Amino acid sequence: MKLIRFGPPGAEKPGMILEDGTRIDVSGFGEDWDESFFATDGPKRLQAWRFLEGAKAPRVAASERLGSATCRPSKIVCIGLNYVDHARETKAKVPEEPVIFFKATTAWSGPDDDLVLPRGSVKTDWEVELAVVIGKRARYVTREAALEHVAGFALHNDYSEREHQLERGGQWSKGKSADTFAPFGPFLATSDEVPDFQSLEMWLTVNGETRQKSTTANMIFAVPHLVSYLSQFMTLLPGDVISTGTPAGVGLGMDPPVFLKAGDVVELGIDKLGRQRQRVVAPK
Ligand code: ZN
Repeated sequence: MKLIRFGPPGAEKPGMILEDGTRIDVSGFGEDWDESFFATDGPKRLQAWRFLEGAKAPRVAASERLGSATCRPSKIVCIGLNYVDHARETKAKVPEEPVIFFKATTAWSGPDDDLVLPRGSVKTDWEVELAVVIGKRARYVTREAALEHVAGFALHNDYSEREHQLERGGQWSKGKSADTFAPFGPFLATSDEVPDFQSLEMWLTVNGETRQKSTTANMIFAVPHLVSYLSQFMTLLPGDVISTGTPAGVGLGMDPPVFLKAGDVVELGIDKLGRQRQRVVAPK
């Protein structure tokens, strides 16, 4: 299944994309795509509901805005330097264990919403990433059991203000957490839709020029490793998001570095997970 949320910011309703591409409003199911939905076998219950009631569900107009594909999670855990070529371009050491940092959940945003530059930003950068959504509470899970705790996958742009991230002291979260810095969607694909999540093509363009082009096969630490690893340090709750890192081709790695300015357009996609488009706008 492909789960979406649609409507004005803050008032999104739950929906689905059917196999033929039709988007339906599933408000009648009575739940949103949040922690309690995932914790109670929501996708399975939704599938059953859909066969009984789906045909009667209202269609979602093509003009409707898409919100983040799931509700704001309890945490967004990001993996740093998880592609060798990206570690090299940023002149960082290839990590021996996963590097992790948090992104504020208030950065959560729709897939085609404007990217609002933070005040004073001079180094806002892009990062196409495969995101994992947790389906079952995970604490001390093995790699072998890790995928039983995954609900599905989605496209995520891990926007980063490099000056705030790297030149202002302390942790990377400073540069990762501005409002609109986590466009998530267009949809959550449940795990059964993407058995090949570890070999998906991924790409990103800025103003039509290709900047990133790689595949999830190039990750240093694969998804089961990451879920298991993180669960040794914290409880992952249903609906939580792990963003699995970005390949080479970010602005920081260019010679000379190039960063985003108002008016730029960023487009990105991952096979089977759709695409996003953000227009960059001045600070508010
Ligand atoms: Zn990232």
